[in-house]
Amino acid sequence: MRRKIVAGNWKMNLTFQQARELALRLNTWVKAHKPIAEIIVAPPHLYLEQINKDLRNSTITVASQNVSAMPNGAFTGDVSAEQLLSIGTKISIVGHSERRAYHYEQDKYIGKKITHLYEHGMSPILCVGEKLEDREQGKHFDVVEEQVTIALERQDPENLKKNLIVAYEPVWAIGTGKTATPDQAQEMHAFIRKTIGNQHGLSVANRTTILYGGSVNAGNARDLFEQYDIDGALVGGASLNLDDFTTIISARK
Ligand code: PEP
Repeated sequence: MRRKIVAGNWKMNLTFQQARELALRLNTWVKAHKPIAEIIVAPPHLYLEQINKDLRNSTITVASQNVSAMPNGAFTGDVSAEQLLSIGTKISIVGHSERRAYHYEQDKYIGKKITHLYEHGMSPILCVGEKLEDREQGKHFDVVEEQVTIALERQDPENLKKNLIVAYEPVWAIGTGKTATPDQAQEMHAFIRKTIGNQHGLSVANRTTILYGGSVNAGNARDLFEQYDIDGALVGGASLNLDDFTTIISARK
């Protein structure tokens, strides 16, 4: 029922040429190795159309790193769900901690993005996760519960049942080389599933794919994937290196 997914968030890295080359080399690897996990890559917006074309005959799905909370209009620099769909993009990351930190995005606003994605038959990858001080003060469950609950409160359960991916990404583990232990990650993933179950029912919770993100690398992926509620990974830095990323993909059995 739950999908096994390994997703790469390329962030604001790679030139156009480098991004195309990485996508094509990844596709060659995927064709040769036929991994169990579904693979998603999220290049910068600017490259989405070309990489979608390059991967037309591939099993790799191309996602965007962000989407506007507005449907259309005078929102300079934003890209809407409809526009993304018009170039073949069907999945978008929303609520990444870098968007929350540098663009002050909040849960209700992130929920609007999810609504627009669903209106166009698209899927969100909703990122949630606590800061270091939240964990140190024992508030990590409260923080994550609020993030999940507010972002999902206005969504139609039928959409959630069909298409919901959540990524638990503790902010203190993103790009820092510090990973949550498999036990810490499992504990939070089970809590997120329970929170979704309380809010939208077990049939939604049991279908939700929950990815772990935060310094996942070729060395720690296997132990994380052994945890019952960890369905896959959202990978930042290590997704830029083909050998590291494909080792992580292979670890998702
Ligand atoms: C991310 O940005 O989603 C992420 C998990 O980054 P990293 O793997 O580099 O910690």
